[in-house]
Amino acid sequence: MKDLYCHNCQQKIPAGGSFYCCRTEIISGFDGRLADPYQDPDLAIKTACEEINALPPHEAMDDVYQEIKIILCPSCRLKLRETLLAMKKPRQTGGKILRFPTAE
Ligand SMILES: [Zn+2]
Repeated sequence: MKDLYCHNCQQKIPAGGSFYCCRTEIISGFDGRLADPYQDPDLAIKTACEEINALPPHEAMDDVYQEIKIILCPSCRLKLRETLLAMKKPRQTGGKILRFPTAE
C-alpha cells in the first residue's frame, strides 16, 4: 500500500495512524431573482452563453459545481474545521453537514 500524505502540510501519515478524508462540494447558488429583471431575456441568455463559451470547459464546469477531495492529518483537520466554522454564520446540522444561509 502506498504512503499517505496530508494534502495540506505534506506530513506523512504513519502506517495505521489517524487521518481524515475530506470531501466538499461547491455548488453555484441561485436566489430565484435576476440581477436585472428588466433586461431582455434573449439578450441575457445570449450574454451568459458567450461568457460560458469564452471559458475553458473545465473552468466553466467548476463555476457551477466543484468537488474537492483531500486527505488531512489530525492537526490540519482541526485547522480546516476552525476555518469553516469561523465563516459567516455557518450552521452545523447533525454533526456532519454544514448549511450556509441562503441569500435574503
Ligand atoms: Zn496536515
